[in-house]
Amino acid sequence: MVQYDIIIIGRGIVGLSAAIYAGRLNLKTLVIGKEKGGKIVKTNLIENYPGFKKISGMDLFNRVLDHTKDYNIEIYGGDIEDISCDKKSCFIIKTKKKQYKSKTILFCTGSKLRKLNVKGEREFEGKGVHSCALCDGPLYNDKILAVIGGGDSAVKESLLLSKYAKEVYIIARNKLKPEPINLERLKRNRKINIILGTQIKEIRGNKFVNSLVLDRKFKNSNILKLDGVFVNIGYIPLSNLGVKLGVKLNKNKEMIIDKESKTNIKGIYAAGDITDTTFKQAITGIGESVKAVYSIYEYINHEKVLCSCIDEK
Ligand SMILES: Cc1cc2nc3c(=O)[nH]c(=O)nc-3n(C[C@H](O)[C@H](O)[C@H](O)COP(=O)(O)OP(=O)(O)OC[C@H]3O[C@@H](n4cnc5c(N)ncnc54)[C@H](O)[C@@H]3O)c2cc1C
Repeated sequence: MVQYDIIIIGRGIVGLSAAIYAGRLNLKTLVIGKEKGGKIVKTNLIENYPGFKKISGMDLFNRVLDHTKDYNIEIYGGDIEDISCDKKSCFIIKTKKKQYKSKTILFCTGSKLRKLNVKGEREFEGKGVHSCALCDGPLYNDKILAVIGGGDSAVKESLLLSKYAKEVYIIARNKLKPEPINLERLKRNRKINIILGTQIKEIRGNKFVNSLVLDRKFKNSNILKLDGVFVNIGYIPLSNLGVKLGVKLNKNKEMIIDKESKTNIKGIYAAGDITDTTFKQAITGIGESVKAVYSIYEYINHEKVLCSCIDEK
């Protein structure tokens, strides 16, 4: 079995950016990840990535992917079934088809969307309940939609949906917390109605969604009639594989990292949306991944690689 210097888990923008740096440093590198592109490919408009005034997530990701082709990086598309550690092989990763071993691991596993956990959500998934405006918004030309959530990505989703729908409600439990520029756009957008301090109790429909039950009245009714709902209420970090190896998490189940993106376990690093850092953006995640790769380079070239999977902290 080939011994890699670094196996990057995650095929999102953070994992592949790390791979570029690893390739440049001549580290024997493998990227393993399930979803090509991760979350960034689900947004149509990025205006805060330096060097690009406006770019879609898919275009940005494809540029990064193309850049990896200049280096000797192997990319495997698939799920990881098991991960373990022993003194001889260091870290062992099992996919359905193959087994890999590596001196170090960089977790770039990101997160998955949080569910509302209300009646009707699962029943109408794909039949009026969605999570990606870019993917499913075009199905709702001239219809009435709602976005549930108050963060910047929820606001961006509602702005995008207003291009298709005749009316969009953005419904948040507390306040909206978008970037100021997106708040201005929201306020100027005549198709978008803001409903604050409100939670969803149920999603109703027949074959497809036809209404939401709210926990308080809006315009004298708890029932809001509509054709579709896009849920964007935050994310659950995908940290289970790290837990198996003893990686410490914070109370939000994010991997705790230091200034060099090291976790508490020797040889294990993390970057991007999976970490306990406050800002969850492409640029910040990529920054963490670059620090991780340089730290791995130093570890492999200037220290004795321990393969002991010990908790150092
Ligand atoms: C609607 C929306 C708009 C956004 N707008 C912006 C913006 O304008 N600017 C900006 O900078 N950021 C924006 N973001 C945030 C940005 O998309 C994320 O910060 C970034 O994509 C995080 O990348 P990541 O690689 O850390 O994680 P992810 O993109 O979540 O990728 C994780 C990868 O790990 C893989 N994975 C997880 N578990 C396993 C496993 N067990 N086995 C194998 N593979 C696994 C996944 O399949 C995926 O490939 C936006 C996000 C959303 C949702």
